[in-house]
Amino acid sequence: MGRIPRIVILGAGYGGIVTAIRLQKDLNYNEADVTLVNKHDYHYITTHLHMPAAGTDKPENARVEISKLIDEYKIDFVKSTVTELKLNEQKVVLEDSTLSYDYLIIGLGGEPETFGVPGLLQNALNIRSINSVRLIREHIEYQFAKYKREPHRTDYLTFIVGGAGFTGIEFVGELADRVPKLCKEFDVNPELVKIYNIEAAPTALPGFDPQLVEYAIQVLEEKGVTFKLATAIKECTPEGVVLATGEEIRSATVIWTGGIRGNHMLEEAGLETIRGRVVVDDYLRTPEYDNVFVLGDCSMVMSPEGRPYPPTAQIATQQGELCSYNLVASIRNAPLKKFSFHNRGVVASLGRRQAIGLVGNHKLTGRKAAWMKKMIDLRYLYMIGGIPLVVKKGKL
Ligand code: FAD
Ligand code: NAD
Repeated sequence: MGRIPRIVILGAGYGGIVTAIRLQKDLNYNEADVTLVNKHDYHYITTHLHMPAAGTDKPENARVEISKLIDEYKIDFVKSTVTELKLNEQKVVLEDSTLSYDYLIIGLGGEPETFGVPGLLQNALNIRSINSVRLIREHIEYQFAKYKREPHRTDYLTFIVGGAGFTGIEFVGELADRVPKLCKEFDVNPELVKIYNIEAAPTALPGFDPQLVEYAIQVLEEKGVTFKLATAIKECTPEGVVLATGEEIRSATVIWTGGIRGNHMLEEAGLETIRGRVVVDDYLRTPEYDNVFVLGDCSMVMSPEGRPYPPTAQIATQQGELCSYNLVASIRNAPLKKFSFHNRGVVASLGRRQAIGLVGNHKLTGRKAAWMKKMIDLRYLYMIGGIPLVVKKGKL
């Protein structure tokens, strides 16, 4: 290239921020110009968002200023929104400028997948960002306040969560913990409050260990959650949801946790995608451009058995580490490494001091699983921000 190569990283989520942090360590002085672009000047800890959404934690605790994570002498941070990927021209369009790159890393995260269910985009809320969870939290409180002015509208106290995947399950656990406090604060009879978790598959957490799923359902039902399994949401209206069974549930609050797809800009840029996600090659690059890497929820990595790995923070951070390695190798004309996912287990919270986990063949429940979840969270904070971040944000 003859001049310093330009690396542009889009998105400071799990994949993007880990790539940036690794690059600032791995690159030598003047080996590359690195620019990180993100919509906000903070990185959010998506894996915590179910808590501020339900109001059991503050939104501030789920975010970290990007300037505290990167060395701005080594990485240019641009707070802006990406609006278009012009991959043929090696350019990305931002809301206020255009950037050229030699290497591009796309880590823009996922978007809600609605599977074309009418009304979901317009009427449901999503757990996706700090702004979206602030809205959910305020909206829930507002329903309690509204009910006090219109006591015949008990439907204001009905909360519907569509999809009992991990996001839905973690959220209903927190919401069920919050309800007694809200009832006390607003002088509401707790018996009037209903939380429905509606799932199309015959079981919650489809594909996960059946014994742990049974445990989760039991814990959540004891907290007051009603599951409707094998029941798809067919429509979402301003008045509530219509189920495939024909039943209608009136509610002013539908939280859609029915799945995610990749960022729409990848498809629009002409990349071949499955549900908006690019099936990356062994080195995490797009099949079309060997200078474009895709990470996290925007990417799809196939397991050796040929099934896609679920999009998780765990895989996104491992991709970030390898992506940095491969970028440095590309610049130095050294061989690239293949990505291989190391599954360290799955742990899901069920609210305060309750969780389920599968680590190798070990099944964990209750406090042990909740402890494990805390350790995973602390490990991530340590990985991106060292001890100071663990002390500041970790719930020690
Ligand atoms: P994200 O972390 O979503 O980050 C994308 C970034 O891109 C964001 O900073 C966003 O602001 C930015 N961005 C988006 N669009 C633009 C744009 N146009 N311009 C500029 N910037 C943009 N996974 C686990 O492994 N373990 C868990 O315990 C776990 N818990 C979860 C709990 C919840 C409630 C949720 C919703 C998800 C959970 N996940 C968990 C999944 C995990 O959070 C995601 O897989 C992970 O966040 C994906 O990382 P990413 O880097 O692809 O994108
Ligand atoms: P998901 O795709 O894992 O689950 C969505 C659920 O919604 C599925 O069970 C699906 O059957 C159901 N659904 C779809 N359409 C429906 C309809 N019309 N009516 C009723 N139900 C419907 O999505 P998610 O839970 O948001 O998770 C996204 C990713 O994030 C996953 O890879 C997950 O593993 C990961 N995640 C992990 C954790 C954790 O490890 N603790 C927590 C949250 C999310």
